[in-house]
Amino acid sequence: METPTLFTHLTLIDGLGGPPLEDASLLVENQCITFAGNQNLPEISPDTLVKDCTGQFMIPGLIDCHIHMELHGFADTFQENLVDDKLRTLRVAKQMNDTLRAGFTTVRNVGCVNYIDLAVKAGIEAGYFQGPEILSAGRIISMTCSGTEYFEGMYRIADGVDDCRKAAREQLRAGADLLKLMATGAVMNPGGVPGAPQLNVDEMRAVVEEGAKLGKHTAAHAHAAQGIINAVKAGVRTIEHGTMADEKALKVMADAGTYLIPTISLHDLFEAHSNEIPAFMLEKSREMQNTYLDIIKQAIKMGIPVAMGTDAGTNYNYHGKNAAEILYLVDQDIMTPMAAIQAATRTAARAIMMEKKIGTLEPGKQADFLLLTENPLNRIQVLTDSGGIAAVYKKGKAVIF
Ligand SMILES: [Zn+2]
Repeated sequence: METPTLFTHLTLIDGLGGPPLEDASLLVENQCITFAGNQNLPEISPDTLVKDCTGQFMIPGLIDCHIHMELHGFADTFQENLVDDKLRTLRVAKQMNDTLRAGFTTVRNVGCVNYIDLAVKAGIEAGYFQGPEILSAGRIISMTCSGTEYFEGMYRIADGVDDCRKAAREQLRAGADLLKLMATGAVMNPGGVPGAPQLNVDEMRAVVEEGAKLGKHTAAHAHAAQGIINAVKAGVRTIEHGTMADEKALKVMADAGTYLIPTISLHDLFEAHSNEIPAFMLEKSREMQNTYLDIIKQAIKMGIPVAMGTDAGTNYNYHGKNAAEILYLVDQDIMTPMAAIQAATRTAARAIMMEKKIGTLEPGKQADFLLLTENPLNRIQVLTDSGGIAAVYKKGKAVIF
């Protein structure tokens, strides 16, 4: 039995979308929230530790639905292939600690080189160092195509229904929490054609089925319309990127209740470093950049749930800077501050099938939350200000700063 902790005199933004609750309290017992609110406070046992949070704002722990923890943000991601995996694993441990201290208590790693993420996850669970809760997709399942050699060890090449099924089973055997597949070509490798469909519907369906047997979902990398439609038909839960979706593809997503995980702020990073990143990436990014904002706005209008993801680890897209995407969604008038926070908490938890455990601050949920020095609904930049995050708690335990 851990000592219960009562956080008092805080402004509570519980993630449910209602107005902030003034002078609220939150009680944590055995890693879980047992009370949250400002009325009818339950009887507190005498050994309870009381923390006065006057002037502070509490929000749920943030969730990034799309990262690549084993990538470092090099100017050219190809450089990763020159780094030894053992050194890389240590680097990832540090970067996951940075990510947690930035307020991200859960991350979904959608495709990893050589299962480094599973090692880091085991290290965190063993208590060797602090890091977020990690959901790992293992290797990305991709058809034989040009470009996969750019990320050595990240793909499991599979062709045909049986091979795709086997590839999915291999990831699950390795310990994957979800599956990730390529429904279209990619921006970040030289041969990828983002507009071109890749795996066929029946191949993707085999992957989705294998995950579903174990209650695990499938994420699809998909830029353009036909690939999105194929992936939704196959039963994937989340569409990653969706940069070139059209009205028809969005309609198919809306009807199926598929989640969209845009990774939008990275396109500005490409522009900011246009002289340093490979020309082919910049060229492909520019093709989609102009229409991407409108596509996300349209998706929201059509009722498609949009959850937050960063693609952290890609060029200049550093781990620990994940909240930049939340700010970007607000800056670009895609979402209100409240909606952007929900995209990174409640909606994100639903997208990754963790909503019973995380995403909101309600009794029964895991005690993952942040204490902020300012009201994020008035000024969302508090999430990236130095000192803006006063404390991060994961499973009721304070993260060491
Ligand atoms: Zn990605």
